[in-house]
Amino acid sequence: ESIKIQVNGLTELDLAARKILDLAAHAHIFIFEGDMGAGKTTLIKSLAKVMGVTEVVSSPTFSIVNEYDAKGKPIYHFDFYRIKNIQEAYDIGYEEYFYSGNTCFIEWPEKIEGLIPEHYIKISIETLAENERLLSISKI
Ligand code: ATP
Ligand code: MG
Repeated sequence: ESIKIQVNGLTELDLAARKILDLAAHAHIFIFEGDMGAGKTTLIKSLAKVMGVTEVVSSPTFSIVNEYDAKGKPIYHFDFYRIKNIQEAYDIGYEEYFYSGNTCFIEWPEKIEGLIPEHYIKISIETLAENERLLSISKI
């Protein structure tokens, strides 16, 4: 069962991020599904901002993971799009991050199937129109 939030433009994204964090309660693993350009990184920016991150949030390009500071607590932002094999996830020491108890935002979890912890929040993003997205949030 999933909760749906329709986002009609970027100005509504912070409110959606707040709702997601309320729904997520104590979860710390968040996976993001959706096509290229669906808005995974853009939503993660809003989530990080709502959690108190003041640094610039952008998709990790040269690395797989970026770390931000949210009021003294780390947030890890992963983008597995470019990994060629699962070994690259082992090489960065993914377990240290995933089982740290700190918030992990994971783009392209499909690329590391089998490595995602047992419990997580799944956010699927569907593009309805140029500026409209349908977010489906489920607790797994
Ligand atoms: P990739 O798979 O390449 O990492 P992505 O899913 O992370 O892609 P973004 O990089 O976040 O996608 O790009 C989403 C684009 O859609 C941005 O240009 C953003 O401004 C735009 N956009 C428009 N409306 C929305 C909306 N309601 N929510 C999120 N993004 C939106
Ligand atoms: Mg992205």
